[in-house]
Amino acid sequence: SGDPGWERVKRFGEVYLPSLAPYRLPVATMVAGADSARAGEKAVRFHAENIHEFAWSTSPDYRYEGIFYVRPRGEVAPPDGVPVWDTVAINVLYRPGDEKSWGDGGAIARTKVALEWLEHVYGPYAYPMMANIHRLDGGGTEFPMMMMNGSSGQGLILHEGGHVFTFGILANNEWRSGWMDEGLTSYQTSWAEGVTPQDRARRGGRDSSFFRASGYRRLAPRLSGTDRLQLSQYRLDMLGRAQPVGTRSDLFREFGIYNDMIYSRAELMYGALRDAIGDSAFVAFMHRYYKDWALQHVDERAMRSTAELASGQQLGWFFDQWLRHTGLTDYALVKVQQKRQPDGSWLTRGKVKRRAEYREPPPLGVLTSAGWTIARGSASADEQWIEVRTAEKPKGVQLDPLRTTEDWDRRNDLPPGLSRLWRDEDGPVRVRFDWPFLDQVSRDNVILALTPIGWTSAPNGPILGLRSRSNYQGVVDRDESGVVFTTDRPAAAAGHVSSNWYGEGAHLWAIHENPTIPWKGRPLMGLRTTAWTFDGAAGGEVSYSWDASRFLYARTVSTTRSIGVTYTAPRGFGYLPARWEAARIAELKFDETSRQWRGAWSPQVGISIAGGLARSDARTSRSNEPYGRGELWVKGGKAFGVDTAGFLSARAYLAHSTANMPYQRRIFISARDPYQTLFNHFVRPRGGLLAPEHVATVPLGGAGLRGYDPGMAGDGMIALNLEQGVRALSLAAGQRPLALWATAFVDAGMPRGGVLYSLDNPLGDAGVGLVLRGWIYDRDVRVRLDAPFYVRYGKLAAARREFTPGTFGRPYRDFASRVQLTLGSFW
Ligand SMILES: [Zn+2]
Repeated sequence: SGDPGWERVKRFGEVYLPSLAPYRLPVATMVAGADSARAGEKAVRFHAENIHEFAWSTSPDYRYEGIFYVRPRGEVAPPDGVPVWDTVAINVLYRPGDEKSWGDGGAIARTKVALEWLEHVYGPYAYPMMANIHRLDGGGTEFPMMMMNGSSGQGLILHEGGHVFTFGILANNEWRSGWMDEGLTSYQTSWAEGVTPQDRARRGGRDSSFFRASGYRRLAPRLSGTDRLQLSQYRLDMLGRAQPVGTRSDLFREFGIYNDMIYSRAELMYGALRDAIGDSAFVAFMHRYYKDWALQHVDERAMRSTAELASGQQLGWFFDQWLRHTGLTDYALVKVQQKRQPDGSWLTRGKVKRRAEYREPPPLGVLTSAGWTIARGSASADEQWIEVRTAEKPKGVQLDPLRTTEDWDRRNDLPPGLSRLWRDEDGPVRVRFDWPFLDQVSRDNVILALTPIGWTSAPNGPILGLRSRSNYQGVVDRDESGVVFTTDRPAAAAGHVSSNWYGEGAHLWAIHENPTIPWKGRPLMGLRTTAWTFDGAAGGEVSYSWDASRFLYARTVSTTRSIGVTYTAPRGFGYLPARWEAARIAELKFDETSRQWRGAWSPQVGISIAGGLARSDARTSRSNEPYGRGELWVKGGKAFGVDTAGFLSARAYLAHSTANMPYQRRIFISARDPYQTLFNHFVRPRGGLLAPEHVATVPLGGAGLRGYDPGMAGDGMIALNLEQGVRALSLAAGQRPLALWATAFVDAGMPRGGVLYSLDNPLGDAGVGLVLRGWIYDRDVRVRLDAPFYVRYGKLAAARREFTPGTFGRPYRDFASRVQLTLGSFW
């Protein structure tokens, strides 16, 4: 019969196995009973032609469904010398329990959709059968005539079915040139789903509504899937992690980068090829590539020569830059001229400069009442004038208005000058309200998010002003700046200083990260600069941080390092931030954190070394006095229980500093130091909203003995912290969970002799707490309400107010009922 057993498990359709008889060329056939079989057994022989790999999958539990796919006629000419069947069998095998997701013709219908699409893109299918089988693993894999899929979604079927064309029929060497296989089938799948840059161009440069958010999230501009794919790849390039797409598989530095390059970056490459040669030449290239090379081995030369024949262009430069180099694409519009011609039409000329490594013929668009008119420049020119003629009067000029190129930086695509600014959705800057808990990111514009901001401090009373945060693409030119005005100005009132707006009357700050460098085509990732004047002090910092891990994705050991220079000085208003003394400080700092991902506790080690000069105006004893401080910590955690319902975390901490440190640089016993809380406007100021006078608050850090006053500091400390928690209430599950945890903690520490205690007087605390941990929209939140019921030397506790009845006369006890707010976490 030729049936390997499908008839018995059939749920739907005809069992149809191509047999030898009707065809001139035997391609795939199964003959049963041809070999000797013992009683109760069946021998099945499989015969297939024009294949270079085969797969075998068997299970007595399989359920079978099948149909004939009858090809629409005459769409594309069949490849020369390649057999083509007028009907193709679609055979689906799935497992019991899959009836909803795979059964009742669902998987069959989606396989048919894929086959129709693939024949439209390439040409008539060169095999008589397509089998779609539910495999045990997730994901999918492909063989000639067969795909084994972990699920039955349309995207996966398009992808794996596409491989039957770009690996089975167009037989490339996947190990040598993964981009010919994964990259092309990824592009083809995005094309089918309508999410390529070309599909976006068809929609006038707008992303499909498929990616729009709902609810509160709708208030924030977000990236579409197409944007995300592009930006993730540009970012790898900016971080120096990209490798040439044409790299042989075993020479990629790690599996994650291999995946990025041969799937995603190669997908961008095919989009750029289509952009460079045009839509119709690209479609002709795909058809010709299939027609000329079906059932043969293909390589880069086969593809490139076909693309050159189909487009009539030399494309050596294109394949060379994408396959053998890394880089970004960026063209800038630097000058625009417009002139009415004697015949009444308009001529627009734009001067375009190449800013980054890659080339792509830049499209210059002119907007008129008739829509965009676009002219292409040349890929080979580094600087060129592009001319666009329009019958109507131009309303706007822009490089690549429909966003078909890989130009990463859209900010320089508009004509230079003031017209660049404040054009809302189409201009480079989009002014928005800064909605709490939301990230606002756009591919096309700088987001400038504004919000009123205010706080209070003891010296200046209520403070009100405006904060702006801006970013480009969420990563580049991230900055925050603010200006707030004070109501009480004690120094000016006393006649000590004039009340200039930049003096005591205002606090100002600016932070800038990952800046664009004007003469380079890429930002300097990891550079951060800050400048500020707050609470009677001012300062600034320049730091550079980088990921020093050998691997970006492989979770072996990851290491980040940073180096920075900070300068801070009092401003002579007679008051300073909390936990601060009047000293000018210049400091050089180095930090390194590394995490060992393997092992039960995935331990992390951190080291922070800083040294500087402190000069006090008030005390002549301190004139450019050098100081140094170092911190070393090791921490680890372990999750346990079903769905990590509990955790146990431990941390060991050692810190040491020279004697006579300025207060703000000492080793703090419970809290992050004043440099680390500089931009927390509720914690930093004297008498701020979260100051100890108002609320017992500990921004957890330093030696981490959280029960103690955040102002306590010394010149050395050894500490041990332990915390255990169980999830009490899950508020949101999924990738970004939010839960309430019940915790218990114990901390112990020995301060170095000197300022506070000697080694004979250890410190310790213990207590229980409630932690809100997880994501509220785009913010990772960790807030705790802790009850440190034991604090050795109770009078040093952060929560000085005790709730234990009958404590009059003995207000500060070691054992007492206290409550405090703890901000942040080590873990
Ligand atoms: Zn694949």
